[in-house]
Amino acid sequence: MSEKIDYIDTYYSRTLGAVATYPELVGNCEADVCVIGGGLAGLNTALGLVERGLKPVLLEARRIGWGASGRNGGFVLRGFDAGDIDIPGRVPPDQKFRIMKGCLDAQDLIRQRSMTYSIPCDIVSGSLAVTWGTDTKELEDDVRYANDTFDMGLEFWSRQRVQEHCRTPRYYAGVFSKWDFHFHPLRYTHGIAAAASSQGARIYEQSAALKIKKDGADWCVQTAGGQVKAKHVVVCTSVYGSGFDRKLDFSVFPVQTYVMVTKPVDRHDLDSTINTPYCVYDLRFACDYYRVLPDRRILWGGRVGLHAEPKDISALMLADMFKVYPQLKGRVEADISWAGRQAYTPYRMPVIGQRKPGYWYNTAFGGHGMVPTTLGGELIARAIAGHDGGYRDFDRYGLLFTGGPFGRYVAQAVYSYWCACDYMRYEGPFARRPSP
Ligand SMILES: Cc1cc2nc3c(=O)[nH]c(=O)nc-3n(C[C@H](O)[C@H](O)[C@H](O)COP(=O)(O)OP(=O)(O)OC[C@H]3O[C@@H](n4cnc5c(N)ncnc54)[C@H](O)[C@@H]3O)c2cc1C
Repeated sequence: MSEKIDYIDTYYSRTLGAVATYPELVGNCEADVCVIGGGLAGLNTALGLVERGLKPVLLEARRIGWGASGRNGGFVLRGFDAGDIDIPGRVPPDQKFRIMKGCLDAQDLIRQRSMTYSIPCDIVSGSLAVTWGTDTKELEDDVRYANDTFDMGLEFWSRQRVQEHCRTPRYYAGVFSKWDFHFHPLRYTHGIAAAASSQGARIYEQSAALKIKKDGADWCVQTAGGQVKAKHVVVCTSVYGSGFDRKLDFSVFPVQTYVMVTKPVDRHDLDSTINTPYCVYDLRFACDYYRVLPDRRILWGGRVGLHAEPKDISALMLADMFKVYPQLKGRVEADISWAGRQAYTPYRMPVIGQRKPGYWYNTAFGGHGMVPTTLGGELIARAIAGHDGGYRDFDRYGLLFTGGPFGRYVAQAVYSYWCACDYMRYEGPFARRPSP
């Protein structure tokens, strides 16, 4: 039997507490649906199915929440990676409305589920998106558009108001959302797994799907130790190279991003810098995102990479932090840092839909997955359990060939271009300098 894979060392795995472990699949079994991948995309699908009376089997190659779902920033924000107040492409207004409204409903569902299933995930309400740019009129217009079109309830905050919460001259304005929140993502992921399992979903860890083949009207999913036969299969494997689906493997590319958590910070130092309970992120392409954790540590995330992990993630994150809050130099110390991988498509929108009869996708959520994985899970569960066609709104964001292993080089070039644009706009010789 192959070696068991456990969580990498993160703040979340250190503070997870007692949770269930699930057995490895041994032998053959049958199910209504076989869900592949035990991140939030797979688990939300499985929970949506059991809540509608179906009995899925979920296969996870490692541990529940081992991937991005259990090691992210914990920001639960409206919208998608492609946009938090709008989506790309020429989408008819009614379709756009349904997609964005679906997101807001999914955000509510996360809160509801955390209460219904008593998930101890430390929800703290409120997010603040801040801008390094001086053109605050553009931001005000965006807020008006989001409120008028999608009823998002956003507030535009002046520079002064932002500075009450973020004591730095870096930011020129902000957008506050009382509906967004932040939480402990690994505990939430386990809570969703426990809720699905208690209602009849069979979950297997250390059980990678190795091959999928057609067997009459059913699909057969093989693992090293057994096989699942089901009418439907839902692939939620993100970037971890399923190996069994070349189209998917050649259509999404992996992007790494990083998180660092400090040792507990003196209360006075927090008051004079990150003086807010809200999670904060800036609106640059390669943004900083941060929040204060319940034990007065700062979680700071950002940057993306397409190749090897940097040698010293903590040093990179601290340097980014000191650019915004130089007052913290010498006052904070990194305790732990880690990297995580997320799946991107060229649209930066997820792939949610049916590829062949009974063969579904719910994947590629990029760096903004907490809410969209919940939406995707609901759409797929509704489609399978109730023949609902709501998922078809995502048809236009299907799989595009991105060059497989070479796609990441194109992505690297695009990313470098956007970083250069960010630099010229906010920091370069022609950018307007922030004044205190
Ligand atoms: C560092 C970091 C910070 C982020 N911060 C945020 C944030 O603050 N807010 C936000 O909304 N989003 C954030 N994201 C993005 C978000 O975490 C992801 O979009 C989301 O978790 C994707 O969920 P998923 O289930 O698709 O993928 P994952 O959580 O990666 O799960 C995929 C699972 O599939 C399993 N798997 C793969 N292949 C197989 C196989 N063959 N058989 C069985 N199982 C398999 C893997 O082991 C893995 O557990 C962040 C991501 C990272 C990496």
